Amino acid sequence: MNTTARKSPAFDVETVRAEFPILHQEVNGQPLVYLDSAATSQKPNMVIDAISDYYRGYNANVHRAAHYLADKATCAFEDARIKVADFIGSTTPEQVIWTRGTTESINLVSNSWGGTHLTEGDRVLVPALEHHSNIVPWQMVAARCGARVEEIPVTDVGEVDLDALANMLDNRVRLVACGHISNALGTVNPVEEIVELGHGVGAMVLIDGAQAVAHAPINVEALGCDFYAFSGHKMFGPTGIGVLWGKRELLEAMPPWQGGGEMIETVAFAGTTYQGLPYRFEAGTPDIAGAIGLGAAVDFLNSLDRSAVNTHEQDLLNYAVERSENVEGLVRYGRSHVNAGVLSFLLSGTHAADVGTLLDQQGIAVRTGHHCAQPLMAQYQVPGTVRASFALYNTRAEVDRLFEGLEKVRSLLF
Ligand code: PLP
Repeated sequence: MNTTARKSPAFDVETVRAEFPILHQEVNGQPLVYLDSAATSQKPNMVIDAISDYYRGYNANVHRAAHYLADKATCAFEDARIKVADFIGSTTPEQVIWTRGTTESINLVSNSWGGTHLTEGDRVLVPALEHHSNIVPWQMVAARCGARVEEIPVTDVGEVDLDALANMLDNRVRLVACGHISNALGTVNPVEEIVELGHGVGAMVLIDGAQAVAHAPINVEALGCDFYAFSGHKMFGPTGIGVLWGKRELLEAMPPWQGGGEMIETVAFAGTTYQGLPYRFEAGTPDIAGAIGLGAAVDFLNSLDRSAVNTHEQDLLNYAVERSENVEGLVRYGRSHVNAGVLSFLLSGTHAADVGTLLDQQGIAVRTGHHCAQPLMAQYQVPGTVRASFALYNTRAEVDRLFEGLEKVRSLLF
């Protein structure tokens, strides 16, 4: 087995790794191998420094004061919005709404758009492989409105069954909510086709991009979806900040879902009027450092050759899949040929949690469990899987460590 880290000519993984201080430590006496980036990615110096610079140099609330620090903070905060808008191909920065993350973005749409558009008998379609945060908010609003949330079947290899979706569509379908990349399996869903199918019956289409933003360039306008949600912390930015992007006319017609400071134009006991986009959806003091940190994460990603990054990540995944085929008793979940960043598996005769613990003892961080995708686990009739997820800073040598670790797990458990 070739254990040398193969470098793409345009992408030097060691140079990139040097930017991630957390990766250079030992865990349980071994160099850390971090294979849990689908849960949260690590942060480069650029992001850590941007957050630290804000708190050390110009911490102030935004939009509210006439003083120097407030002005500097407001400029950096709004500059980050512009960076994110450019990064995802949004026509205007006002369509970028800051949220706490994907979960809050979807809750915003389910409460505001769903709460005003869904009525008795309406249908919301969601693939069976979705993260709970793209299922539960729809169930909650559906229960209030008398609508139904229905599961779009997923094939054995872990792909959304497009024929089944096409057969489910009718004029009572108001929304199709679908992940761009599955966090549990890594399947890259055919979101362009799903948008087209949904729009064919006049439904809105929301794409959960939580797992996609770190792996591939996104262009929301070209994709044609109505809403796109993602989290900063999965794309090398901080936790606590995320984005809802929406089509302008839809966002403008939606009522605010949280009330408070910042989102109002005038307040009187006789009645209150609201700000325009994006502020009508940003009640209260926002995560200023988070937004600035996310802007820095965008700068970080823009400083890289994204297609070289993609080649590197795909090489890692192909290599991991190839190695997994030689492990006795390893059953892989999610066998779509269009897969990004995730190797989900079980070792027969073992519990996922035991495998995770024994890998951790060797300094290897993976995730085990249902990955917030219980309906998918129910389909596969397993309580959970072991998930190794890869990011641009991982190496082939780390994939080797994972498989050496698994050999050790086997020798300890059998
Ligand atoms: N959607 C997907 C596909 C995810 O992987 C995750 C997190 O794992 C989420 C939504 C929720 O993201 P957050 O917890 O950042 O809101």
